[in-house]
Amino acid sequence: SRIFNFNAGPAVMPEAVLEKAQKEMLNWRHSGQSVMELSHRSSEFESIRNHAENRVRSVMGVPDHYDVLFLQGGASLQFSMIPMNLYQPGKPMDVINTGSWTQKAIVEMKKIGKCHEVASTKKENFMRLPSQDELNFSKDSSFVYLASNNTIFGTQWPEFPIVKDNILVADMSSDILSRVIDVNQFDLIFAGAQKNIGPSGVTLVIIRHDLVDRGPENIPSVLQYRVHSKNRSLYNTPPTFGIYMMGLVLDWIHDQGGIIGMEAKNNEKAALLYDAIDKSDLFYGPVHHKNRSKMNVIFRVKDNHVELEEAFVKYATEAGQCGLKGHRSVGGLRASIYNAQPLVGVKALIDSMKKFESKIRI
Ligand code: PMP
Repeated sequence: SRIFNFNAGPAVMPEAVLEKAQKEMLNWRHSGQSVMELSHRSSEFESIRNHAENRVRSVMGVPDHYDVLFLQGGASLQFSMIPMNLYQPGKPMDVINTGSWTQKAIVEMKKIGKCHEVASTKKENFMRLPSQDELNFSKDSSFVYLASNNTIFGTQWPEFPIVKDNILVADMSSDILSRVIDVNQFDLIFAGAQKNIGPSGVTLVIIRHDLVDRGPENIPSVLQYRVHSKNRSLYNTPPTFGIYMMGLVLDWIHDQGGIIGMEAKNNEKAALLYDAIDKSDLFYGPVHHKNRSKMNVIFRVKDNHVELEEAFVKYATEAGQCGLKGHRSVGGLRASIYNAQPLVGVKALIDSMKKFESKIRI
């Protein structure tokens, strides 16, 4: 039987989506073929691609003047594509550094041009996000870059900083589709699929259409937004099965009451889990309360009892909850409670935490 999966990504998928894919696996809609076997130039795949794009647009409220692209190379390739396409020499790229993923983006951006750290909470182990008055923007930047949710450190912008007329680029890999956002606030949004959108292998990029032509034409074609935009993500063979799965996940979100419904469920799950952590005598949450992520819940055992963290991971695994080990770079415990994590999964985890605590005396 299936277990509760708290991995950070690839992560839990909605069971109904897996069942639908299973049903359609051998013969997709009387085509006599699996989606994996369809030509990416076929009318069948065209309808799958269009469906996924239309669902992204309707579920997220993406205005017509944005392109919706399905790319490859993971979210990490965007760390390079963004500066290659949007950097304007003489105008630094402004990055709000809030953890490992923004740091990795900075490394790649510096290979392309001048990068400016608008703020960093590194000195505080990234346990909080900077406030608006800590943001030291450049006078004239190519763009401002942030991560909406920090998967490893467990922080999430409750509301986004004001960047005035600057172009705003957001890595939403770990909280896309989990809460209502105004797409108009952003100029480019990207996300690896493997947390809230589907299987790994597809990266969703939502970009204001007038920006796709900004980059030079002498960079590799496959790295140009203009090429993918012109070819409607069919410049080369796209990850067809991933795009199909993305469409099914978006159908499922639609059936859950859309993002509004999703957000209400996510709020309930996160409140329940943080409440259990805060009431515990054994566990604690190290992240500043106002920046706590509703997707990646970081918690630790008090007084640096690392051995008890390891013991808890083992205990929970035996109880049917996997993926609770914190990221290898920070340790501790992490429960990723993405859209597809059911409330009963969170309740099962809380039950394990309570039982483990009553067993342990420190
Ligand atoms: N950004 C964030 C916020 C992430 O959590 C991750 C992956 N966990 C990445 C970027 C990198 O994604 P990928 O592995 O798809 O390159």
